[in-house]
Amino acid sequence: MNRGLLSHDRTTYIEVDLKAIAQNIQAVRKLIGSSVELMPVVKANAYGHGAVEVAKTAVEHGADRLAVNRVAEGLELRRAGISVPIVVLGYAGQGEMGAVVEHDLTPTITELPVAKALSAQALASGKEVDLHVKVDTGMGRLGLLPQEIVPFFKRLVKFPGIHAEGIFTHFSVADSKKVRDRKYTREQFKTFQKVLAEIANAGFDIPLRHVANSAATMYYPETHLDLVRPGIIIYGLPPAADHKPTLSLKPALSLKSRVARIRTLPARSSLGYGRRFTAKKKTAIALVPVGYGDGYHRLLSTRGEVLINGKRAPIVGTISMDQLMVDVSRVGAVKIDQEVVLLGKQGKDRISAEEVASWAETINYEVVSSLLPRVPRVY
Ligand SMILES: *Cc1c(COP(=O)(O)O)cnc(C)c1O
Repeated sequence: MNRGLLSHDRTTYIEVDLKAIAQNIQAVRKLIGSSVELMPVVKANAYGHGAVEVAKTAVEHGADRLAVNRVAEGLELRRAGISVPIVVLGYAGQGEMGAVVEHDLTPTITELPVAKALSAQALASGKEVDLHVKVDTGMGRLGLLPQEIVPFFKRLVKFPGIHAEGIFTHFSVADSKKVRDRKYTREQFKTFQKVLAEIANAGFDIPLRHVANSAATMYYPETHLDLVRPGIIIYGLPPAADHKPTLSLKPALSLKSRVARIRTLPARSSLGYGRRFTAKKKTAIALVPVGYGDGYHRLLSTRGEVLINGKRAPIVGTISMDQLMVDVSRVGAVKIDQEVVLLGKQGKDRISAEEVASWAETINYEVVSSLLPRVPRVY
């Protein structure tokens, strides 16, 4: 992916530490043991880290399969030559079943018309196609209700060319340590186990039963079952701000740029759209070519900080699409083209995705997955 320019020739770029990804994968493998399958979730461009590079690293370091959310995401991995099974966790419609079969993706099926379309495509291409079924045990999004599962399987087995390889559900509060949330998670798991017993009693044998996201992988080892599907911890980030990870995680992503202009703003001068900043006294200002058009949230205006000279410089004024400004009065001498770190380490300091998330009133997941394709990823 480092097409053309090397990192030292770049202005604004994302640095992804694939060794960190590998270490995180190995840490999860150590936790789950060798008899549980590991299916890292690389949806949303691998949470902003770059789907193809992360997927290749994950497979090289022992991932058994990969999970994405959309068919198009699976196709991107296939085009890059990735050959392990790829489960599409999100909804895929009837019109997508041709691509699913052609590229050997494993869809999640929760609707009979979609199952029928998949069966027709499987027959047409002479393939036996695997699928997973999702149960809604309390998240309330995609998935069949527990009581719908056995009737659904009875209809599903009548479609030729398709085979239910997996069954899964998703937790809504596995990241929380609150008593009522722990109770809810255990209830979701109990409901899922009841469904498993019902389908076994009805004579169906589904080899891959899975429920564990990152939080459940760490905090509920009893939920590992046949396979775990962690996302955020693969990237070295904790799933919850107030619940310590039980693994040693290494963050993989840094967002870096350079100083594009330095000036002394005279007292009473304003800057940026909306004139949200007016200098009370003479102020040293540096321009950084990063904006919301890169996925750096506009909400960080007047709230965020960046690292220059290993020190914190506050963002002043409004972040625009391509640029932002920082007050560099307290970071020492600043030169044009000098490195600016918006996410990651510089010197002894580090700005974490969790810290940016707290400034932007969101979660670390959104901070990294918001980073747009315009920003080149350097590995
Ligand atoms: C995104 C997703 C995951 C991964 O969640 P993390 O909290 O990042 O580990 C697992 N399962 C499903 C169904 C998902 O959509």
